[in-house]
Amino acid sequence: MKYLYGPVPSRRLGQSLGVDPIPSKTCNYQCIYCQLGRTSNFTNLRKNYYPKEEIFNELKTVLTEKKPYFDYLTFVGSGEPTLYKDLGDLISYAKEYTEKPICVITNGSLLYKSEVRDDLYDVEVVLPTLDAGDEKTFRLINRPHPEIKFKDLIEGFIEFRNHYDGQFWVEVMLVKNVNDSKEELLKIKDKMDLIEPDRIDINVPIRPPAESWVEIPNKSVISRLNEVFIDYNNINFPEMGHFKFYSSDFEKELLSIIERHPMREDQILESFSSPNLSKQEIQEKLSLLEKQNKITGMNYHNNKFWKLKIIK
Ligand code: SF4
Repeated sequence: MKYLYGPVPSRRLGQSLGVDPIPSKTCNYQCIYCQLGRTSNFTNLRKNYYPKEEIFNELKTVLTEKKPYFDYLTFVGSGEPTLYKDLGDLISYAKEYTEKPICVITNGSLLYKSEVRDDLYDVEVVLPTLDAGDEKTFRLINRPHPEIKFKDLIEGFIEFRNHYDGQFWVEVMLVKNVNDSKEELLKIKDKMDLIEPDRIDINVPIRPPAESWVEIPNKSVISRLNEVFIDYNNINFPEMGHFKFYSSDFEKELLSIIERHPMREDQILESFSSPNLSKQEIQEKLSLLEKQNKITGMNYHNNKFWKLKIIK
């Protein structure tokens, strides 16, 4: 499978069957905390990065033949999914083959465009990100494409919320000494009051970030969050559950997941070990793939993570 992956365990969506219509690290943001590494294709151009028919075919095959168990079909992946010009067509097509809820995980940057809002009105859940309460912090943490202005971003969120019937859960990624002070949190809260999301999800960088200086906030942030937001959802915990694969080809399946979702080594060992593949053999395969420059291993907060090596 080239465009569909998983289902993978998700902290907010249970088992999430991923659809990724965007090439690796193609994004209009360059978030300092991005778990996929630095943005290699920094663009604000909406186009069909892959032929629509190819994605249609995979959707049909997986949803009608392979039929894995999943809770949500999720458009997400290795870049910003709303950069795919005909995203609305992909969503309509998927709806013909599943009755499960559809979710789009987006940075929300293009919601100020009416054609992007129209693409998303039919899905059940939209999960955008808002990490800043003003232009200055927005530029610092998300490093957006110059065409994207903070004012438009907020207006886009409000406009979408006002016409959308589904669930709109806005995620805030907190980074130590960047947006975790009371002053920064209050500015974000002001914008949330205008947007009126169904839920505010608070996250921290639990996977290795694009910039090595990015740190998880101190525990004292919790009292500030309680004071400022009062009602929020803490998603700051490792995801649990199983990853699903379509074949016994270790390399192919591993690369397909970690291109979109860096994995802890313990997750890899648990998910791939079988009577035919021991944990020791998996570790040898990981070392070989690292030597071949295909993947990178790194230690982060007492866990070893593996992610795809992005060749620039
Ligand atoms: S975190 Fe998301 S929005 Fe930010 S750079 Fe990475 S892919 Fe783009």
